[in-house]
Amino acid sequence: MTQTFAEPSSSPALLLLGRRRDPLSERGVDCPGDLPSPSDPGLVQRAAAAKAKLGNRVFVLGHHYQRDEVIQFADVTGDSFKLARDAAARPDAEFIVFCGVHFMAESADILTSANQAVVLPDMAAGCSMADMANISQVEDAWAQLAEAGIADSTVPLTYMNSTAAIKAFCGRNEGAVCTSSNAEVAMRWAFEQSGGLGGNGKVFFLPDQHLGRNTAVISLGLSLDDCVLYDPRKPLGGNTLEQLAAARVILWKGHCSVHGRFRKENVETMRAEVPGVNVLVHPECAYDVVTAADFVGSTEYIIRAIEDAEPGSAWVIGTELNLVRRLANAHPDKEIHFLEDTVCFCSTMNRIDLPHLVWALESLVAGDVPNRIVVDDDTQTWAKVALDRMLALPANNPAKD
Ligand code: SF4
Repeated sequence: MTQTFAEPSSSPALLLLGRRRDPLSERGVDCPGDLPSPSDPGLVQRAAAAKAKLGNRVFVLGHHYQRDEVIQFADVTGDSFKLARDAAARPDAEFIVFCGVHFMAESADILTSANQAVVLPDMAAGCSMADMANISQVEDAWAQLAEAGIADSTVPLTYMNSTAAIKAFCGRNEGAVCTSSNAEVAMRWAFEQSGGLGGNGKVFFLPDQHLGRNTAVISLGLSLDDCVLYDPRKPLGGNTLEQLAAARVILWKGHCSVHGRFRKENVETMRAEVPGVNVLVHPECAYDVVTAADFVGSTEYIIRAIEDAEPGSAWVIGTELNLVRRLANAHPDKEIHFLEDTVCFCSTMNRIDLPHLVWALESLVAGDVPNRIVVDDDTQTWAKVALDRMLALPANNPAKD
């Protein structure tokens, strides 16, 4: 047979899967311990036995996007904010095993007491969106806005999906945190702090441009022209001073690598293939996808919408595949489709697999606390200020919650 493809050799610029690794970008890929083999047939029994031995000392949290093999061991499931609050409501649990991603475990550490240890079973479970805004970039951008005379009339608002350092930045600078459930209420609050929606003040929204744009335009009635994109790799974010001065919302150039893949064409294709289908998407999707959909809301909203749907109704859902698959399995009386068949699971969330969970639980049984997530005191203090400002906001919009 004629060979048509010669595999390139590894180089620092091209790391072939499984051949080499880049320790700078793949923070914590190595686990300091012996992971069970993924093919070990006793993994389920080992996880159950270790969890039973730990009893009430351990509380296992499972994010909605987590794989089923892990979710089966979760004491509670939820989105990032619900899980952090659930963790805070269990002060008796010595260990919080967070089956989610790094920023979520940080939030749990901030909201739990110092004598509780938050464990992330694989330190490589990051979030590509959160990693798109690092604190030095954000502080540099804020300094540029200050130099341009804009920061004084601007309130920073960060999505829950951001590092603790970014949440602390918002706390220090009179800003707050928001979730996909309360982004509208939080953005209205931020405008009130800067002269009102009808004034000239601004909101600096981090790190998800899509949630920020969808909230500003669809929920608050601003125009697309009121929003500018801030690219941290360019001076003034790639804007002129005049553009920044005229903007009402400065959107950080970040996005979710899962939800950012859905396209308006996917909505059109599914409407043509499934007549009468209801299109339900997450607000991390792009503006043109959200405006083409019938319903938009957080993961909790999506779950409730499917639970409340009429038997026999047809739905196409644009969010993470593990959740869509679980909803389809749980509701066989409804026709449930995934919005785009080439979009895959959240790869970082999927780092937490059964071998990592078994390793984390068995380490705790053995008296070791592996992969403990610790947010330093100063960052905790200011991040908590930003989180508390969010918690003081009026109740969420029930239609989107
Ligand atoms: S789904 Fe998107 S926002 Fe959520 S953890 Fe994965 S990359 Fe981050």
